[in-house]
Amino acid sequence: MQLVQLRKHLSPTFAMPFRHRAVGGKVLVTGTEGNFALLSPEEFEAFARGAVEEGTPLYARLAERNFVRAEFDERRMVERLRARKRFLSWGPNLHIVVVTLRCNETCVYCHASRADMGATHTDMTREVADRTVDQIFATTSPDVTIEFQGGEPLVAFDGIKHIVERAREKNKAAGKRLEFTMVSNLSLMDDEKLAWLVENKVQICTSVDGPAHLHDQQRKLVGGSAHAQATRWIRRVNEAYAAMGLDPTLYHVEALLTTTRDALPRWKEIVDTYVELGCRALFLRPVDPFGFADKTAPRVEYPRREYLDFYRSAVDYMVQLNRGGTEILERFAAIFLTKILGGEDPNFLDVRSPCGAAIGQVAYNYDGKIFTCDEGRMLHEMGDDTFLVGEVAAAAEGEGSAEGAVRARYREIMGHETVRAMAIASNLDAQPDCVNCTYQPYCGVCPVHNHKTQGSIFGRMRESSLCAVHKGIQDYLFERIGSGDAGVLQVFQRWTTVRDRTHFLQTCAT
Ligand code: SF4
Ligand code: SF4
Repeated sequence: MQLVQLRKHLSPTFAMPFRHRAVGGKVLVTGTEGNFALLSPEEFEAFARGAVEEGTPLYARLAERNFVRAEFDERRMVERLRARKRFLSWGPNLHIVVVTLRCNETCVYCHASRADMGATHTDMTREVADRTVDQIFATTSPDVTIEFQGGEPLVAFDGIKHIVERAREKNKAAGKRLEFTMVSNLSLMDDEKLAWLVENKVQICTSVDGPAHLHDQQRKLVGGSAHAQATRWIRRVNEAYAAMGLDPTLYHVEALLTTTRDALPRWKEIVDTYVELGCRALFLRPVDPFGFADKTAPRVEYPRREYLDFYRSAVDYMVQLNRGGTEILERFAAIFLTKILGGEDPNFLDVRSPCGAAIGQVAYNYDGKIFTCDEGRMLHEMGDDTFLVGEVAAAAEGEGSAEGAVRARYREIMGHETVRAMAIASNLDAQPDCVNCTYQPYCGVCPVHNHKTQGSIFGRMRESSLCAVHKGIQDYLFERIGSGDAGVLQVFQRWTTVRDRTHFLQTCAT
């Protein structure tokens, strides 16, 4: 499509403002509210020139999607934009608590910069834990998820118990929709811990890098197989949920993949491993440039076009499995499709505009330091404090009550110059490349990633490896949507269906 030639003939009165991109032999057109149309080159030309006759099927299709100026429905646009940006009026809902940096596994790409098991000084003390919980409850968000991270959180299991109990106690007055999640390698799990976690409705999330040989090559567990431990406990947890009568399509261990170079040719084995474990979702995350992955990049990294080939093969295969009745979805695809097909924003904090740095998530380190997000904390462990925005408040710091000190600290953090700068840097209406990108209504940028890889929180998207991933995934999704295959569309629609896991809500339990 020759925009240069078209420009002379563009109609200023027919079409609403749009962006466009050639995708899979068609022209994708998107509008401000996230509306889209996939047009043939001829249809696009007629659209851009304002030569679409009223009363034709193309006119009706474009008008129905709010692309025709004469038929423009302003109220619809406002409603859709409001729905997409609903998260802006909430405040931080995800609170990541690093209960220890100690870990018993050594992963080739460890983003968290884990500490050895002897580093007990990296365990969160009770005092810091109490202040952290108090700080969390200062949030304006009605939803609060406390996510335990490490290191390996099971190393500090008593700390988790303490925080869960204190948070539940505080929530009696606060009345938040409270949930807990633990991200663990599961190798230190035992029956007693599992019983407590299940009883207290703590969701469990782990890492599975695919088949045993790949997982164990990347995640070393002294004296054992990290894969055997993880998979054994995934099955046990899922059995425990099933025994409680919970629907296995909703209630199961969530597992995450970190895609390394060695994973790229193994897309089929990886998907099969997840299916065999009973997982219903697979998150094909590329490796990030944080923590040990920065040092091991020559071994674990790869050009993003190779990742995108891997992604396409894996998701094609997953679609095929779904068509045969096996339910498994890819998380990136589900996030984008919810925005593209569902018109909603699933509030995934790393792919939204502005991103969730502090205004959607906050990370609390074991020593009480507060970061805009977990990735900001990861950079701190690498010696860069750019994303440090404060410390959990102590009662003595307040002018009056402990509660007053905590609220004052919350206001300081939300108004912190770093937080404001990140909100501006991740606002796609202000990003020089994103503002004209066809995927602007659905996308997100990461100021921490930009800072780490390009030396500026704004970055240059045309050279960003993360932009390449987001662009490539959306190209793939629109190609498949545009293929006209009803079966694919059916699978994609199903991936946008979000069903709440209400069992894990603490308000139901207390
Ligand atoms: S800065 Fe990056 S990691 Fe942090 S919340 Fe924003 S997108 Fe997510
Ligand atoms: S990050 Fe890249 S793909 Fe996403 S809107 Fe910006 S330029 Fe487009």
